[in-house]
Amino acid sequence: MRSSLMEMNRRTLLLGAVGAGVAAWWPVRTSTQAAKMRLIFLGTGGGPRPRKAASAPAQVIVINDVAYVVDCGDGVARQLAFAGVPLTALRHVFVTHHHSDHNADYGNLMLLAWAAGLRTRVDTWGPPPLEKMTRLFFELNAYDINTRIADEGRVPLVPLLHPHELTDGGVVMEDERVKVTATLVNHAPVTPAFAYRFDAADRSIVISGDTAWSDNLIKLAKNADVLVHEALYVPGVDRIVATVANASTLKKHIIDSHTAVEDCGRVAEAAGVKTLVLSHLIPVDDPEVTDRTWIDAARTHFHGTVIVAKDLMEI
Ligand SMILES: [Zn+2]
Repeated sequence: MRSSLMEMNRRTLLLGAVGAGVAAWWPVRTSTQAAKMRLIFLGTGGGPRPRKAASAPAQVIVINDVAYVVDCGDGVARQLAFAGVPLTALRHVFVTHHHSDHNADYGNLMLLAWAAGLRTRVDTWGPPPLEKMTRLFFELNAYDINTRIADEGRVPLVPLLHPHELTDGGVVMEDERVKVTATLVNHAPVTPAFAYRFDAADRSIVISGDTAWSDNLIKLAKNADVLVHEALYVPGVDRIVATVANASTLKKHIIDSHTAVEDCGRVAEAAGVKTLVLSHLIPVDDPEVTDRTWIDAARTHFHGTVIVAKDLMEI
């Protein structure tokens, strides 16, 4: 992972050199290299409360410099900048469900990508009311959008964005780079909630979204190379809720609608995946819950590789 990040930084540096007019002496990427599906974690902490330790849930899959964002927690656009992924590379956005830690910056991502120079179509996919949310976001920001079109000569933003509401599982979209399939997962009372699977030429990646135990997820993740699963360390929940007024209802929500890390291992084992990545960590900033804690708990039932996701990690 360290080498991937270094590779990314080197590439960013080289691209910067091109912009400065320096001769391109490095080898042109071959088609095999270009087909690599990159997965970068933009935010790995569960819950909407802004924290120092980790940004809110979001990740980006990049294939041939085309970006597919999954979830839009607070700060997703800035995290893309930190990851070295140009906002103008944005092509598709997938929202797993409508909790604010997953969608708070859904509209902002589009608005800021456009402000950063985006002039091309973006399709967004997610549960209702995605279309209404998109329309109302544009209405909320009409003053800025119209000003920038008139004052800065930008292309109109509204026609670039095409929201699609999903109400059931199945193939969501397919292009020359990747096929995306969704399944319904269990995150009541927030329904529908989806997990997404990305099948590309080199490997397959599944992102669970938020879910309690889900047989649908096991089916979707069957034999995948990578399963990114939300993870809850149950003994840490009491310390999370200790400071809030709604402790008992919050605790019930957290435990009923998420997956204990030991069960993440069971799901990964049942699906036969090669690598389990724990993300959307709850808690994410408890010093008593270390990487070792997460990995040991996941490994009680899973025999493959376990990775604890960190913001800006690439795998
Ligand atoms: Zn949620």
